Amino acid sequence: MTKNSTIEQDAARGEPRLAAALLRSDPDRDCPLCPRLQGFREEARARHPEWFNAPVPPFGDPDGRLLIVGLAPGMQGANRTGRPFTGDYAGDLLYATLLEYGFAKGQYQARPDDGLTLVDCRIGNAVRCVPPQNKPLPAEINICRQFLVATIETMPRLRAIVALGRIAHESTLKALGLRAAAAPFAHGAIHQGGVAKLYDSYHCSRYNTNTRVLTTDMFRSVFAKVRADLG
Ligand code: SF4
Repeated sequence: MTKNSTIEQDAARGEPRLAAALLRSDPDRDCPLCPRLQGFREEARARHPEWFNAPVPPFGDPDGRLLIVGLAPGMQGANRTGRPFTGDYAGDLLYATLLEYGFAKGQYQARPDDGLTLVDCRIGNAVRCVPPQNKPLPAEINICRQFLVATIETMPRLRAIVALGRIAHESTLKALGLRAAAAPFAHGAIHQGGVAKLYDSYHCSRYNTNTRVLTTDMFRSVFAKVRADLG
């Protein structure tokens, strides 16, 4: 089923709020809201026309109870392949962990047609377009939050959010309408965010694991807690 037919069915069922949120949840492929990221994207398209090079949509089940929020697409990862965390080191650790805790099934082979599916889980990013040096500007994080809000709004069974890194944590808090001061970021921390609990983890980037800011066991422990809470 295409996204448009889903939207039409929602509207036909008399769910205009959901239909509107679905529409907002997908920025245009040429989204112009962040001029710096738009220019960076166009440069990448010129260099690698075969790559995805567009805002990366969430992956997984909108009816899932778990949402994972990353920072932004990596140049050679999601920006290249079009699926969050697919094709770079961060995806190796994330998908291995999701498979271990039953939030994914199949085999992760670092490409969007590998047949891997998420179970009770969806993955998105705080910022949908690849930023230079993996560093989005505050204004870019703020303007792209409307799409994170829409991602959250279109998950009616949402109970748990794992935020990967401080930026994802803070943008998710704002998306939930909560104050950052009330829920400071710390690896392993758990905050109540309305209907969903917010679980903090350091980002599973190669840099964080190489420097042992984040070990595999530290990362696994976050998902072990989520699994224990969701049952
Ligand atoms: S980061 Fe978000 S708001 Fe900015 S251009 Fe990309 S999709 Fe649009």
